[in-house]
Amino acid sequence: MTTLDTLCIQGGYDPKQGEPRQVPIVQSTTFRYESADAMGALFDLEASGYFYSRLQNPTCDTVAAKIAALEGGSAAMLTGSGQAANFFALFNICGCGDHIVASSAIYGGTFNLISVTMAKMGIETTFVSPTATRAELDAAFRPNTKAVFGETICNPSLQVLDIELFAQAAHDHGVPFIIDNTFPTPINCRPIEWGADIVTHSTTKYMDGHSAAVGGAIVDAGRFDWMAHADKFPGLTTPDDSYHGVVYAQRFGREGAFITKATAQLMRDLGSIQSPQSAYLLNLGLESLAVRMARHCETGLAVAQHLQQHPAVTAVAYPGLEADPFHALAQKYLPKGSCGVVSFQIAGGRAAACAFMEALEVGIIATHVADARTCCLVPAATTHRQMTDPQLEAAGIPAGLVRLSCGLEAAEDLIAAIDRALQVAIEKTDN
Ligand SMILES: *Cc1c(COP(=O)(O)O)cnc(C)c1O
Repeated sequence: MTTLDTLCIQGGYDPKQGEPRQVPIVQSTTFRYESADAMGALFDLEASGYFYSRLQNPTCDTVAAKIAALEGGSAAMLTGSGQAANFFALFNICGCGDHIVASSAIYGGTFNLISVTMAKMGIETTFVSPTATRAELDAAFRPNTKAVFGETICNPSLQVLDIELFAQAAHDHGVPFIIDNTFPTPINCRPIEWGADIVTHSTTKYMDGHSAAVGGAIVDAGRFDWMAHADKFPGLTTPDDSYHGVVYAQRFGREGAFITKATAQLMRDLGSIQSPQSAYLLNLGLESLAVRMARHCETGLAVAQHLQQHPAVTAVAYPGLEADPFHALAQKYLPKGSCGVVSFQIAGGRAAACAFMEALEVGIIATHVADARTCCLVPAATTHRQMTDPQLEAAGIPAGLVRLSCGLEAAEDLIAAIDRALQVAIEKTDN
């Protein structure tokens, strides 16, 4: 069982004789034990098992195991959203007084999380360009830096990150590289193979793929040597009094420490687990992920090529296009394709972009991407309206940018609808 296509179907769950073929939804908040000692061992982290679904649930763990296999990681957990995944991944190793180095080309929600909410918690971030040189990256580090963060393909600007460069810089400064791999999914890129230590996902996007369930996931590569940098990561390398002095990095090793701590501490205290119902729906999406990603990428490329030669379109961002500044990085990291999302600008700026969005018949206006249905959004007027114009520029999101997420409809129908909507946009802004 080696190919990703097969892991999408078979990974994570191996029913024994007479057991259900589909992953069971364990709709139970609690679990029964025969003795105080048996249950006490769980609370001491001496035995593994389930006791309360705020921390862990069998359905979630089964689906997490599939995602771990797809990413090539040692352990994984599901969270209630992609936001929770990124927060937990960072907060598991950063606290008040710590510092993060992050790519500026990241999802708007993550930008808010890091630059506003985590700043209020005393965690500072230095943002660097996704195209930063090694020297520029080095200059961003401080003695209290605890992690480097980036996105494989940025939502919505579609810049491709040089994963090896960012991972190497992180490692040379003794910290892990955390990467949000939502857009390519492991079908198109497995960041762990390029040096990433922790991979996060908004499973709400392609992994679910049907607008059915909000969710997130965190995967640990199981390679980062916490003990070698023990002074930086006391939460993993010194005793946790709330579990009778367990030292996560010693008890659970490189493979298990990060996810065990995030489950035992963060899920216990912050309670952002995915519901077993949502995990079940996510698993249905994962079963067809490889098939769907190929189709999303094929349509994305066809739409990008069509837009590129359209007279009303002034710029197209799609890493699969040869003219795209990120094409070389895409060929290295995303040889099978990038994603189904195409960003472009129409002559006429914000007004024309909004007119196009409203006229697009096949697509729906939705705060969503990476879905079976084509979705269309003008980020500056919607998801990114909290950002100032300079921040928008820095994140690669001009005010007139249209983010078009190509769904699974026939490419010819989508392209015909795009042409009609462009015509409407031209006519409206000409008057
Ligand atoms: C949507 C998204 C998130 C946030 O995920 P939610 O599931 O909406 O909380 C994080 N990162 C990226 C790249 C996203 O596209």
